[in-house]
Amino acid sequence: MTLPTLSAERVAPLQIEQPTREPILGLSRVALGSRLIALGVPERQVRMRANQLWSWVYVRGVTETAAMTDIGKDLRAEIGEAFTLHRPQVVTEQVSVDGTRKWLLRLDDGKEIETVYIPEEDRGTLCISSQVGCTLTCSFCHTGTQRLVRNLTSGEIVGQIMLARDRLGDWPGASAPDPRGLPDSQRKITNVVLMGMGEPLYNFDNVRDACALAADGEGLAIGKRRITLSTSGVVPEIPRWGEETGTMLAISLHAARDELRDKLVPINKKWPLKDLLAACRAYPGLSNAKRITFEYVMLRGVNDQVADAKELVRLLAKIPAKINLIPFNPWPGAPYECSEWEQIEKFAEAVNRAGYASPVRSPRGRDIMAACGQLKSASVKLHASAHLSQPV
Ligand code: SAH
Ligand code: SF4
Repeated sequence: MTLPTLSAERVAPLQIEQPTREPILGLSRVALGSRLIALGVPERQVRMRANQLWSWVYVRGVTETAAMTDIGKDLRAEIGEAFTLHRPQVVTEQVSVDGTRKWLLRLDDGKEIETVYIPEEDRGTLCISSQVGCTLTCSFCHTGTQRLVRNLTSGEIVGQIMLARDRLGDWPGASAPDPRGLPDSQRKITNVVLMGMGEPLYNFDNVRDACALAADGEGLAIGKRRITLSTSGVVPEIPRWGEETGTMLAISLHAARDELRDKLVPINKKWPLKDLLAACRAYPGLSNAKRITFEYVMLRGVNDQVADAKELVRLLAKIPAKINLIPFNPWPGAPYECSEWEQIEKFAEAVNRAGYASPVRSPRGRDIMAACGQLKSASVKLHASAHLSQPV
């Protein structure tokens, strides 16, 4: 399906500049405090100064130290010389006919990632990346065909939220440069999902630190219950993730039998379903109000029969679970097709009958290749010549 794209534009001229100043984004409060001491701020003032700075950065979203009017001029200038507040650079911004936005972002070393914003009536979900590319090779995912270039830093992960807030006018008193299709809610980004490029549990520490920044009540204040990490099944890291962060969890399941899951999600060969589900059962704090989301991509003739649905619900018995059916999003050269709509409905009905809500995720932003699993192709299409570090 090719729909006309409303817009695809370069937002600002691109510069490749290796900043000599240290990025503030990504520093914890404690780290920020020690940096201020190094700048000569007296110990008894450090806490107050760090709080002021924190609030300018994460509550007000300022990008220039000059705006920090409650900090004395001299200190402000020193902070400005030592630190940078810059965001990842926008290479292109695309707005889908359904309001979905996708940004192709360039990092300081020239590598590129994608971030997607999905508005609904009363909420907005930001889908962020955790790695440049992915080391895993799920056979239905386009990102998996791209070689891993590197992990993102915590600053680059949280920087995606900051940049999206800039572009959506989601700071106090700000307005969106392009307000088409934004939700009515006061805040434009109400939820964050780690479902962009990369396997977040293979970049555990940086993703955890970024989530702590995103959830900080005196900062970005996106509650941890509104942050969802999606994993293909890095089993040993799941308990630690639950204990250290308490965010919501989504599992890319896609098959209810090891033999099939080995093919679709090859990490299954290392950690098969039995181990994966044991880790899910033990995830801290599970209840009917805090369920695990199981993602299941609908592949025609591969995993979409009613018998598969029955196996799926048997497998998930006694786990507080939501099952999210995702119509397969095609990409050039993909070895699969999306299931027929009728088949998806039959499958959903079988899941429903077993007592699970089974929302079918409506594909968003397909016209701008922003839907699940399509990330990469868009960059290739839009920006082939710049992808020197990301061979196709
Ligand atoms: N690496 C993590 C998170 C990113 S992928 C993971 O695999 O969970 C986000 C979701 O999109 C996963 O559930 C993934 O299986 C799904 N996905 C990947 N390719 C897709 C495609 N072509 N169509 C639909 N969903 C896809
Ligand atoms: Fe990586 Fe997730 Fe794609 Fe698998 S589905 S290749 S883990 S991004």
